[in-house]
Amino acid sequence: MILPIIGYGDPVLRKVGVDIDVNDPTIKETIANMYETMYNAHGVGLAAPQVGLPIRLFVIDTTPFSDDEDLEEEEQMQLKDFKQTFINAKIIKEEGEEWGFNEGCLSIPEVREDVYRHERITIEYLDEDFNKKTEVYDGLIARVIQHEYDHIEGILFTDLISSLKKQLIKKRLANIMEGKTRPDYKMKFASPKKGR
Ligand SMILES: [Zn+2]
Repeated sequence: MILPIIGYGDPVLRKVGVDIDVNDPTIKETIANMYETMYNAHGVGLAAPQVGLPIRLFVIDTTPFSDDEDLEEEEQMQLKDFKQTFINAKIIKEEGEEWGFNEGCLSIPEVREDVYRHERITIEYLDEDFNKKTEVYDGLIARVIQHEYDHIEGILFTDLISSLKKQLIKKRLANIMEGKTRPDYKMKFASPKKGR
């Protein structure tokens, strides 16, 4: 089932997600719904707070990035094959140089800004079958994980830009809150203006 994506300004996007009980019988369906919702919106990642659930869950599929001709073939191949569910994730290490990349977010349509993040991460999580994993990721895969991980910590990419840039996008963020933006996927806005 495709779920509406929660827009910027909704308090659920600011909650620190709670750990999922692995015995929760609804979790498989939630995961399936999140993939469906992400693909429908042409996203490469989606975190549970973005569908209104303040829990530690996010899904990633970087296949759309694999078409990027600026990338080396090896990285393209990695991106093409990378699909992963992260349950109760914890980033235990971030290292390497910080590098900038122009990020966007399905909860913040039509806003893109350069965000600086560490090159490499070590993360512990449970996969879709609740197997415990510890993995090291770098490059664009690490970046998508860091972005989604921030969501389960209540952080948005717009928190990570300079105060000047924040000032410049203020109006656009207000428009999103009021539902004055029309992406090609279903959204739930924080404080929609009536009569529209
Ligand atoms: Zn996002």
